Amino acid sequence: MALSDEELDRYARHIVLPQIGGAGQLRLKAAQVAIVGAGGIGAGAIPALTGAGIGHLTIIDDDRVELSNLQRQPLYAENQIGERKVDLAARYIGKRNPHIECRTIPDRIDGDNADAILSDHDLIIDGTDNFATRLVVSDAAVRLGIPLISAAAQQFQSQVALFRGKPCYRCFVGDAFDADDCDTCAELGVLGALTGTIGNFAALLAIRTIVGIGPDAAGTLHLLDGLSLGWRQIRIAADPACNACG
Ligand SMILES: [Zn+2]
Repeated sequence: MALSDEELDRYARHIVLPQIGGAGQLRLKAAQVAIVGAGGIGAGAIPALTGAGIGHLTIIDDDRVELSNLQRQPLYAENQIGERKVDLAARYIGKRNPHIECRTIPDRIDGDNADAILSDHDLIIDGTDNFATRLVVSDAAVRLGIPLISAAAQQFQSQVALFRGKPCYRCFVGDAFDADDCDTCAELGVLGALTGTIGNFAALLAIRTIVGIGPDAAGTLHLLDGLSLGWRQIRIAADPACNACG
């Protein structure tokens, strides 16, 4: 695999960085990344991943655009209300970067389909809005041995972490939320700019992970408080009794 003259020009600001270079850009081009959820987090991550030239993006979401999404989901426009988010995300990706092979899955991910949908990827980004789905995605990532970036935002709080094996997301939240579908932003609200920021940060973690830049971020939770504007980092301890990775 090589980069064409057009790609060398397109990614020139990456390639000039010694930590990326042509070799790093080729790693991005070869990468297969699954994005679970094309809502606020996904819509924050997808533009950065598209611009960065991730070669293969799979977008998984069963939602259609609603008026109340437009407050925080810049991939969609008012005249697209009612259309499938995955179709619109794919159209955005295709217009912005024709080098990306985009696969769309207009389904809700669950325990029955997660392994089949997520296998054959190098990295998973989860931006779904409830614990039950996040745990399903995390358990599948552990089983399949695929690194997972899990991101969430609610009200003025947001968090994002890279997980690779142990510890996993379930070590962090435990088993109490498997049936919990009630922590959605519809009920509690969320600052729109915060989902975009944390989604973009998830894309930054993804690019670092794929290229292999900087210290390994696995197992560290990054928290951004939209009120105090403070970033905090917490090391997550592996739970030896974890039902997924223990
Ligand atoms: Zn675990």
